Amino acid sequence: MRLDVVSLAPEALRPLLHLGVIGRAFEAGIAALHTHNPRDFATDRYRKVDDEPYGGGAGMVLKPEPVFAAVEAIPVLPRSRVLLMSPQGQPLRQADLQRWAVGYDQLVLLCGHYEGFDERIRSLAHEEVSIGDFVLTGGELPAAVVINGVVRLLPGTVGTAASLEEESHSALLLEHPHYTRPAEFRGMAVPEVLRGGDHGAIARWRQQQQQQRTRERRPDLFAHWQSRQEQQNRGER
Ligand code: SAM
Repeated sequence: MRLDVVSLAPEALRPLLHLGVIGRAFEAGIAALHTHNPRDFATDRYRKVDDEPYGGGAGMVLKPEPVFAAVEAIPVLPRSRVLLMSPQGQPLRQADLQRWAVGYDQLVLLCGHYEGFDERIRSLAHEEVSIGDFVLTGGELPAAVVINGVVRLLPGTVGTAASLEEESHSALLLEHPHYTRPAEFRGMAVPEVLRGGDHGAIARWRQQQQQQRTRERRPDLFAHWQSRQEQQNRGER
């Protein structure tokens, strides 16, 4: 997958290239990262990328010309999607990461700064993405979150497909607890069922733990899962 990030601080993306499995995916050519700095496309002598807001108000706004020029210089693959990072976007979900990993060969991620984008820049994007109900200083960390989440879903990045299927959010439920050796640590024992070899009992215990965890920690997700189960039981898709 080709990842193009339009950013005034491209160095903030560099750690991705050295980050464990994600770094190895870049090394292996599973994904390629390209950064594009709007400042390189500014035409005035000071290479200005921001300006005061019309109507007054605090802060500066990212100018449209250098961002449009940066985006228009990016080679476009047939299955390409432009994502604009914004706290006003749709909250990011695992289902979005899966949709982008499967459906596209190229993601273009637009990172804002200052007070944000001139409104006309929004017309470049297919989707606006928020990583949560809080405000950061720039779009680079949100873009890195999207890239990390998408690249780990690409074939070849993470060892087994099963580990992706079983994890939290992939089937609307949170994942069950994990344990490794020792069997007892500071008075905390690994549940007996995991120590026996009964795979059916282990699967049932894990399923029950997933439901219990989700109900306790994320009642919103649990309600969604329950209504999906009811639909499936009625034979709806
Ligand atoms: N004034 C803007 C507003 O209230 O919507 C916030 C601008 S923020 C300081 C600067 C940039 O950081 C945004 O344009 C966006 O690219 C990025 N950003 C900040 N928080 C974000 C979040 N929660 N999700 C995605 N992007 C975010």
